[in-house]
Amino acid sequence: MSKRDYYQVLGVPRNAGEDDIKKAYRRLAMKFHPDRNPDDKDAEGKFKEAKEAYEVLTDAQKRAAYDQFGHAGLDAARGAGPGGFSSGDGFSDIFGDVFGDIFGGARRGGGGGGRGSGVFRGSDLRYELALDLEQAVFGATVEIEVPSAVECGECSGSGAAKGTTPATCDTCGGAGQVRMSQGFFTVQQTCPRCKGRGTVITKPCGACSGQGRVRHTKTLSVKVPPGVDTGDRIRLPAEGEAGRNGGPPGDLYVEIAVHEHPIFERDGAHLSCEVPVSFATATLGGTVDVPTLNGHVSLKVPPETQSGRVFRLREKGVRPVRGGATGDLFCRIVIETPVKLNDEQKDLLRKFEASLGEDRRRHNPREGSWLDGVKKFFDSIGN
Ligand SMILES: [Zn+2]
Ligand SMILES: [Zn+2]
Repeated sequence: MSKRDYYQVLGVPRNAGEDDIKKAYRRLAMKFHPDRNPDDKDAEGKFKEAKEAYEVLTDAQKRAAYDQFGHAGLDAARGAGPGGFSSGDGFSDIFGDVFGDIFGGARRGGGGGGRGSGVFRGSDLRYELALDLEQAVFGATVEIEVPSAVECGECSGSGAAKGTTPATCDTCGGAGQVRMSQGFFTVQQTCPRCKGRGTVITKPCGACSGQGRVRHTKTLSVKVPPGVDTGDRIRLPAEGEAGRNGGPPGDLYVEIAVHEHPIFERDGAHLSCEVPVSFATATLGGTVDVPTLNGHVSLKVPPETQSGRVFRLREKGVRPVRGGATGDLFCRIVIETPVKLNDEQKDLLRKFEASLGEDRRRHNPREGSWLDGVKKFFDSIGN
């Protein structure tokens, strides 16, 4: 299967900086996030594709390998890297190292195959955790319900009814393998009776029908560290599906998706918001109330503030989960045109406008230079 170029996937130039890559990814992740596109395979594919591109292009080493050799460069790195990409679940765990430290637990190498015959590690599970911006910024402890398979308590996972033990398989004599003659050849294959376990259950456990595992919805408490963002993952070791026949359980990956906020827009560690200001306050100056995630603060608006001017409130943004400087809050002034004025108020404005008289260009320099520009333009094409 041919893969699309990572830069094309994100729609960024090859020399794009990390910020642009993050922005592009964030946009695509918002658009194609499975939460927003339930049961849409196409969107899911696009989400995964964007995520993969983002993970590679924001890792300096992987990006260099990709720039030089394309996708082949990454395949090589995957084979050679320490531990590589373990477990065949299809997503690489770039956040595992970070959260591994927070949650402890050694990273288990490999996956899939078992120690002995019939012993399998349980599957890894993925859980999408939607958070409010406040929860993502300040951290939270969230209860989640995860449908999973757990070891059967009745038989302790053996699958044999209480008081009985699995018997040695008499087809293979407990070896798990049998020799079969096929024409001239003798081939060794997994025992069809015990499926390689070497034992058979004579009396299956009633609680799990001899499976050794039961379906169960676990309630887990997930500690979300402050500063996480959409796409971050928290690994809960051994909270995945139970293993088979004594195999270790898989891990649970909690993937963060942060909801849009009605007031704030987030860009990494920075937040931004719009602050509507009346035209009188913008003209004369004054103070306005500005919301931050830690409560309101007063913002001094100097006289003659124009629409679109941005004020930066230092360290009123987000403290990133991986450390580094706390971001800022950018407040963009939007001057509001008054509505629903009564006749008297409208009259005052007309009087005010008239009072500018000959001087109106001095008081509205932008309007003046704009009119000059328009005139110049028409003069230049007018002949
Ligand atoms: Zn059981
Ligand atoms: Zn057997």
